[in-house]
Amino acid sequence: MLGQMMQQPLLISAQIAHAARYHHDTEIVSVETSGGKHRTTYGEVERRSRKLASALLDLGLEAGDRVATLAWNNYRHLEIYFGVSGAGLVCHTINPRLFADQLVYIINHAQDRVLFVDKTFLPIVQGIRDRLEHLEHLILLSAEDADASEALPGIGFYDELVERGSEDYVWPTFDENTASSLCYTSGTTGNPKGALYSHRSTVLHSLAIALPDSMCLSARDCMMPVVPMFHVNAWGIPYAAAMMGCKLVLPGPNLDGVSLKNLINGEQVTIAAGVPTLWQGLISALKESGETVPSLNRTVIGGSACPPWMIESLYRDYGVETLHAWGMTELSPVGSVNTLLHKHSRLSEDEQLVMRRGQGRPPFGIDLKIMDDQGNDLPRDGQAQGDLYAKGHWVINGYFDVADAPPHRDGWFPTGDVAVIDADGYVTIKDRSKDIIKSGGEWISSVELESLAAGFEGIADAAVIAAKHPKWDERPLLIVVPEASSTLTEDDVMALFEGKVASWQKPDAVIFVEALPRNATGKIRKNQLREIYEDYLLKGDAS
Ligand code: AMP
Repeated sequence: MLGQMMQQPLLISAQIAHAARYHHDTEIVSVETSGGKHRTTYGEVERRSRKLASALLDLGLEAGDRVATLAWNNYRHLEIYFGVSGAGLVCHTINPRLFADQLVYIINHAQDRVLFVDKTFLPIVQGIRDRLEHLEHLILLSAEDADASEALPGIGFYDELVERGSEDYVWPTFDENTASSLCYTSGTTGNPKGALYSHRSTVLHSLAIALPDSMCLSARDCMMPVVPMFHVNAWGIPYAAAMMGCKLVLPGPNLDGVSLKNLINGEQVTIAAGVPTLWQGLISALKESGETVPSLNRTVIGGSACPPWMIESLYRDYGVETLHAWGMTELSPVGSVNTLLHKHSRLSEDEQLVMRRGQGRPPFGIDLKIMDDQGNDLPRDGQAQGDLYAKGHWVINGYFDVADAPPHRDGWFPTGDVAVIDADGYVTIKDRSKDIIKSGGEWISSVELESLAAGFEGIADAAVIAAKHPKWDERPLLIVVPEASSTLTEDDVMALFEGKVASWQKPDAVIFVEALPRNATGKIRKNQLREIYEDYLLKGDAS
């Protein structure tokens, strides 16, 4: 017997329609690419995104067509999120930090027919325009701009396009499994691959990340996604914020510590989200000015491992709780968030801060497990280390328009990460499987050593790679960027590890460099470092 409840498709348009009806005057504050703040509301964003949807369909776009963006976090980008997906088109957000050849590959592979671009990125588009095979409409995210028309004849203007749209456009209803948005992996090797999300997966992911044991979003919050809207849809925050009616602060192009501090204090931000390097900038800016961030009560930190010193400094110095989260493009992205259980309230503050270091537990809707090389399940005992697999409502089933069979094993997606899971389901990410250091029979986590090193006084940035070793196969090699004023020597750095890790886990050598190579999403390019330094220990007197 079937239940007798209404059946409604889970659609992204319903999120913004809800926000417009129940949170119509809640503010969306954005920092404009041209400088200055812009203020709008959910009511306005919904009205303009409907007009945008109708204007795009008038251009001749059809259901499923891809519409791309090269844009900062701002209100126009937000309108595109809802207008494009709401119309049944696919919103393809592109990372402007990719190399020109990668951008061309992605835009052609996705067959983007429209590209919305922020003025900052016009020079990039100018350089590649002739190679974009399917592009019909290039539209600047601004009012009319004579300079842009001269630089790129035929370019359209967003504000004009929205103006042309109909006020009377009504959000269409369609199958919730319809594609809504497309994000390509940053890919440190090979061509980037696309994760094609659906309305259903996006709405379920939004619900999950808003839950109390995830980001705990509510209409009482002012949320600032510093994570770019071109990086896995700003971790899904724009959708979840609309659903919950959070005030939104979209920080535009300036992501330095001083700008973030001023925005947090100026707009009374209660929760912010971003990768660890951003918070390093914020903490430095606060230390320098002596200010605090009284309204901010929590930060979501993920994208790469959050160093323990950061969790402690945010909590002890500024009263800010860190929600350490793990995820990936293929998971929309959130796979786990670190919040404590009732039984942990018995722990001391120090013990709780230690619990906070890992990447947390999966919310309902995601399942995680670890397996060995032969595909045997490994125990959830906090000890066994294995390849991490994921399953769930917002995990990809295969890559967009790729002929190869999906990489899954018995229906589980291989994340490429190595992890430990404890009896309560708390995950600790040890490494990317290709980055873990296999020393003799033991595995050493490069992530743990990096997090430690980055917290040492005098070290600005650190990477650990597996260097070839004649006796142990691989040993950790530490590559550090010293702070400008630092006088640290190799021996000083080695001494800092004393008592912090087992002696066999300490790096074998330290190399000082000016900067670390990073990919378009800010992750260290370990393959590049390995190419340069993997023979380093073979050349010396390693024994
Ligand atoms: P991306 O798809 O570009 O977001 O990259 C996903 C990868 O980033 C994951 O597979 C992890 O290797 C890494 N990652 C994301 N969050 C964390 C975290 N909190 N700790 C450690 N690694 C992380």
